[in-house]
Amino acid sequence: MKFSVAKFGGTSMADAHIILKSAQVVAKKNEIRLCVISATSGTTNQLLSMSEQAKSGKIPLHEFEQFEKRHTTISLGLESNPDIKDKIQQSIKRVKELLEAFALLKQTPLSALDEIASQGEVISSYLFLSALRHLKIPSHLVDAREIMKTSSDFGKAKPHLDLLKTLSQEKIAPLLKDAVIVTQGYIGSDLENRTTTLGKEGSDYSTALFAEALEASEVQIWKDVPGIMTTDPRIVPEAKTLHFISFDEVSELTRFGAKVIHPDTFLPVIRQGIPIYVGYSQNPEVTGTKITAMTEASSRVHALSLKKDVTLLSFKTNEPLEDFISLLPPFIHLSSSNQKFIFIFDKLNSPTKDQIKSLDKKGSCQMKTFDLIALVGPSLPYTDLLKDLSSYFENPRYINYGTSETSMTFTVPSGEGENWIKKLHTHFIEKP
Ligand code: ADP
Ligand code: MG
Repeated sequence: MKFSVAKFGGTSMADAHIILKSAQVVAKKNEIRLCVISATSGTTNQLLSMSEQAKSGKIPLHEFEQFEKRHTTISLGLESNPDIKDKIQQSIKRVKELLEAFALLKQTPLSALDEIASQGEVISSYLFLSALRHLKIPSHLVDAREIMKTSSDFGKAKPHLDLLKTLSQEKIAPLLKDAVIVTQGYIGSDLENRTTTLGKEGSDYSTALFAEALEASEVQIWKDVPGIMTTDPRIVPEAKTLHFISFDEVSELTRFGAKVIHPDTFLPVIRQGIPIYVGYSQNPEVTGTKITAMTEASSRVHALSLKKDVTLLSFKTNEPLEDFISLLPPFIHLSSSNQKFIFIFDKLNSPTKDQIKSLDKKGSCQMKTFDLIALVGPSLPYTDLLKDLSSYFENPRYINYGTSETSMTFTVPSGEGENWIKKLHTHFIEKP
């Protein structure tokens, strides 16, 4: 049977109206048989932040009530049946119990953090089921924790691929013929049936894993924007959908800040050659983006991305890279020339004071914060682009070319990134 696996991200699950629109996608697209659902927008972060606050000994009651209200309001808006309402209530209750336990213990055991985080996906999967039933689409929910068996590495569990395949074939495949199956992204369970999570961008990863295990013929990613766009439409409203884009380009866009799809997490489907389509959950008639292995040979800039407040560390040393690289947190970029190394770190992953102290013993380092801009295209003509860009620059800024010809990045002063994106979008994309 040919069928598609569809993922609905948090932004497509923001409120009852948006969830109903997302469910209408399934009504219109008969090929969708499995839906992988993320927690409602912002919920995973909220659950983790409430857990952190509970460690002080008191649960953040006001925030908990907001969380509860948000979900009961959506459930009401979708006219959930009593069974579904009950399931949602159970999850909300579990969140409160766990927060109370964290407050009592003044700590948050890793396994319990996964359990509390997973409630976001559990609730939203029931909300989506409600929406499908509201539209009279025959549908069932399969709890991902019965299928996505993982290691016990809480917070970043690794899937047991063989078990996942067997269980998917046994417990999901036979149902797909007669109903649409709803399951959760991001969550799973270990061999002792304790809840686990797959880590950041986990829903994308789950989607790819389910599609691989079920040998689906297509993956569809439904977002709150019409596909992958020339830049973030929140910065540039004129941004346009790219109807075709290569995996390499998506990879560079994501690495340098665009929230599109995470290619690492899509490796399972990329390996299988399963095509990926990115569409607009609020109107599936609008043509979205097909991600392909290659796009047409063009030397144009296809897209721009912005990563705000990155830390740039330049380090002069006579020591070889192997001798100090382990002292640093994970970086998004590294380049070197004549014993000078340049590292770029995400804001949330900057080197600590202690790390800098230990580096200083091996050479001299300087740190500065910048906004990072990336130009992305299939084969960028670096020399021409550089000439073009130098007409914008007053002083030389740090400029770097990607490892392939798909990206060129440069830094601009912190806080000026959005203005640069606007200017560059006009220059390279609207009026090339
Ligand atoms: P989801 O909930 O579907 O996982 P994300 O959190 O990944 O959604 O973010 C979606 C947002 O990413 C969009 O609302 C959009 O504003 C932003 N975005 C940034 N750059 C791009 C781009 N190049 N194309 C599309 N969306 C982008
Ligand atoms: Mg996402």
